Amino acid sequence: MDRYTVFGNPISQSKSPQIHQQFAEQTQQSIHYDRTLAEPDNFAEAVTQFRLAGGCGANVTAPFKQQAFALCQQLTERARRAEAVNTLYWQADGSLLGDNTDGIGLVTDLIRLGVALADQRILILGAGGAVRGILAPLLAQQPQRIVIANRTESTAQQLANDFADLGSVQGVGLQQIVGEFDLVLNGTAASLTGELPSLPKIALSPQAVSYDLSYGTGLTPFQQWGQAQGLNANYNGIGMLVEQAAASFQLWRQIQPDTATVLSRLIAE
Ligand code: NDP
Repeated sequence: MDRYTVFGNPISQSKSPQIHQQFAEQTQQSIHYDRTLAEPDNFAEAVTQFRLAGGCGANVTAPFKQQAFALCQQLTERARRAEAVNTLYWQADGSLLGDNTDGIGLVTDLIRLGVALADQRILILGAGGAVRGILAPLLAQQPQRIVIANRTESTAQQLANDFADLGSVQGVGLQQIVGEFDLVLNGTAASLTGELPSLPKIALSPQAVSYDLSYGTGLTPFQQWGQAQGLNANYNGIGMLVEQAAASFQLWRQIQPDTATVLSRLIAE
């Protein structure tokens, strides 16, 4: 049976095995998908061991996406841009291909939710690995402009510079946000610790919506912030999680799973 896994630390919380097992059942693919706890100083060794044990591909989550990027012999353009890999795939010639499906996962979910992207003014909070991964796929949707606002201003400016060839991107500190926005994305890790980034008053258009890349049971602090602003809708990243998994599954198995059923089951849990 073809083997897959997700590497991370911690990893027990990962929903990836249940998502991929459901994709496999739907599409009648015979696969086994596991979780692998790796240590920061033995990630490369853990990947080699998994391959030797018959591994065909893997997902990679925090904190190993940059280490996975460094291991790959080939990269997709979006992974090269992100400088981070969340999907490993051993190709027929044995070489290791790295992809990053986080951004396409987010964009697919936003489209599913009916959130407009073309010609929109997008504010992204945070400038870490996840934001680096979503920028190229978001810019491909041709928004009017993207402002990246981060607690550490210099990181936001660096990120904006790195993607300036793909569209209008500006990097600022969290307290320097100016202009009106149609979509506010939270890509900070603040929700993970139950916090809300410290935000100034933000001007929002009448049709504005928010989306937190984090998810959990109940509303995240950022979704609560969106509600308090009276936004039209305040989404979380559970759909992104399922869509990024689907893009990995498609790369590995060359078949597109149905994400809607898997997502509704996860939401109902
Ligand atoms: P990183 O550690 O790479 O980046 C963290 C970012 O959050 C930095 O910009 C950091 O700012 C900022 N930050 C952290 N704490 C605070 C705070 N209290 N207030 C303001 N800013 C803060 O994390 P990732 O980019 O990997 O992940 C970010 C989020 O995205 C996580 O919640 C993760 O769960 C989510 N995610 C969701 C996915 C999905 O499929 N739904 C996929 C991938 C990620 P600074 O630079 O100043 O330190």
